[in-house]
Amino acid sequence: MKLLISLLLVAATGSAHSRPAADLIVTHADIYTVDRQHPRAEAVAVIGERIVAVGSPAEIEEWRGPETHVIDARGRLLLPGFNDAHVHFTDGGADLAGVQLNDATSAQEFTRRIAAQAAKTAKGEWVLGGAWDETKWSPRQAPGAWLIDGVSREVPVFVSRYDGHQGLANSAAMNLAGITAGTADVPGGVIARDAAGNPTGIFKDAAQELIFKAIPPPSHEQRMAAARRALAYAASVGVTSVQHMSADYADVEVYSELLEKGELTTRIYCAPLETGWQDQAKVGLRRAWGSSYLRLGAVKGFADGSIGSRTAALFEPYSDEPDNRGILSAEMHPPEAMRERLMKADEAGLQLRVHAIGDRAISMILDMFADIEKAHGYHDQRMTIEHAQHVAPKDFARFAELHVIASMQPYHAIDDGRWVETRIGRERARSSYAWRSFLDHGVTLAFGTDWDVAPLDPILGLYAAVTRATLDGRNPRGWIAEQRITLAEAVEAYTLGSAFAEFQEKEKGSITPGKLADMVILSGDIFAMKPEAIRNVKVETTIVGGRIVYRAPGQSSVKSF
Ligand SMILES: [Zn+2]
Repeated sequence: MKLLISLLLVAATGSAHSRPAADLIVTHADIYTVDRQHPRAEAVAVIGERIVAVGSPAEIEEWRGPETHVIDARGRLLLPGFNDAHVHFTDGGADLAGVQLNDATSAQEFTRRIAAQAAKTAKGEWVLGGAWDETKWSPRQAPGAWLIDGVSREVPVFVSRYDGHQGLANSAAMNLAGITAGTADVPGGVIARDAAGNPTGIFKDAAQELIFKAIPPPSHEQRMAAARRALAYAASVGVTSVQHMSADYADVEVYSELLEKGELTTRIYCAPLETGWQDQAKVGLRRAWGSSYLRLGAVKGFADGSIGSRTAALFEPYSDEPDNRGILSAEMHPPEAMRERLMKADEAGLQLRVHAIGDRAISMILDMFADIEKAHGYHDQRMTIEHAQHVAPKDFARFAELHVIASMQPYHAIDDGRWVETRIGRERARSSYAWRSFLDHGVTLAFGTDWDVAPLDPILGLYAAVTRATLDGRNPRGWIAEQRITLAEAVEAYTLGSAFAEFQEKEKGSITPGKLADMVILSGDIFAMKPEAIRNVKVETTIVGGRIVYRAPGQSSVKSF
């Protein structure tokens, strides 16, 4: 009898009421789903934080109830939210408020900006951040403390090169750190010196530690403020998930507090340093442990430095420095110690994410990964090589055989591409930032930026992946153009590929019923426009778990959370 009554009710009130009403519907969108079963759609319905239906506007209208919030996308392109597989999130947030040096076009401008920052820095605090890039200066010159000492006598300054592999300290900073002409180099690092042996202020890779340890760590409040800035900025550029490499435990603490307050609007997966693998293993955390907003269970290692600082470890010498093959990181002294730690971390069920840029470093890490798979078997560990920039041609196939994910940052190619051939020559450049070669070998790509090393905006990454047009405008048809990939491939690497790299491909990375409702609406159809125009496209709306976390100014007002 009961059954009959409910059937009658359905008949009387219409089929729309036979299912729960959606909380959110986005309709009249041009949806590129990144779901191979149903690549295109025009509308999507969300209940709670999950997608419940994807289809035509008429099909999705069925999910509408009196309380449903509806966004009319007016034909705009809707994609899964971007997942940045490699960021330094709180550093990026701190930089948003720090000194901006990246677009300085001369040494004078560099000095002027540091002078301005030093003038407003409170006593006892440091001038940090910067992301300087001396290759953009005209005339070009090597930076040194002498450039900034005159404008920062009382204020310690340690500003980083944009790649994070060298920093410039002023004399006040070197004094606080106790650096003198007698200070010895450290393994995995270089203290640049003048002809008389005095430190110039430039500290490379592990040598930066000598200065870092003199800098007071950010307070909890400073870190909270940086995280909040980073979250707001990520939402504004359509980044709905990030994978925080080399996260401090204090970062995890801040994210945890923000999660509790309901303020996490970006999903975060943290990979603290591999040297501390036992910390996570001790409490039994395994890969991708946690909730949809905050997870742990990965460790991040470093094998070498960077090409820009000539510290990436290469098989053959740098083309412009015949005695230099780069350096292995401090963690790789000796390599056996690194191998042992990674072996144990894998055994404990932690995911391994290792920075390797030069072909020699990449090969050494692949050897270690091969040993690990031999010892423990391949069990879908999803080990990644972070950056994987300059690959020996023989090694592409090994990535595939060992199921190693290439976690790469397309923007680096159009930035470094301006000068990298002077460092490594044309031949090695051909297998550099080699997305096409990786995909052709069946390797999974996970895209990201390395923010704060490069801009967080994923649109620039897509632009870089499909054009390889270097920032100096010298390669409009693409630098090493054969390594370009299609826009569909780039979008997949930036969504589903990154989700796979954090064991979340069943939860996010495509617009599919059952997955988390993480979506972005763009201002233009990047599939229809000329590739060079992609860089001008903006994010109009960002949705995370069904919550609208960003609306571009000028968008019609909607209910927000
Ligand atoms: Zn990084």
